[in-house]
Amino acid sequence: MAELQCPRCKSEQVTRRRIIHDGGVSAGVSFTGGVTTSGEAVGATTHTYSSTTLAKRHRPPEEPAVGFAFATAALTCVFSLIFLIALISVANNPDPDFKIGKIFLTVVFIFFAIASVYNVIDMLKKSEYKNSGEYERLSKEYDSQFVCLRCEEIFIPDFSKLS
Ligand SMILES: [Zn+2]
Repeated sequence: MAELQCPRCKSEQVTRRRIIHDGGVSAGVSFTGGVTTSGEAVGATTHTYSSTTLAKRHRPPEEPAVGFAFATAALTCVFSLIFLIALISVANNPDPDFKIGKIFLTVVFIFFAIASVYNVIDMLKKSEYKNSGEYERLSKEYDSQFVCLRCEEIFIPDFSKLS
């Protein structure tokens, strides 16, 4: 019977990628052990990763936060509009007292206008990414991946070859 092993270093200390991430600290504990399942000692240098770093490196693909991006875009657009209306309402006032106010409103309006453009583009990108099904594909791939605890090779085992 063939064992599940790393295609690079042939170590049998392999685990599902998601387990490394979800396990967090426990992944680190198994890492500090100096002996493999087959009884051979393992060099300490390969086990210096902190569990946090390891978990971070094997983080699952991020689901695009379309709702949050939409809220941010909508908010900055509303602020742009408010400052634009305020600017228009004082624009034709010849009173010199409004001069500073006009400059201030122009600067704030430009700031929100740029933020709006940036946020709308960000929202469209995230929404396009979500609709493309790419996240589902990456997530599925991530779930089928294994990681070697010795050399950190990431691989998808061919279960048809295991009996
Ligand atoms: Zn390996």
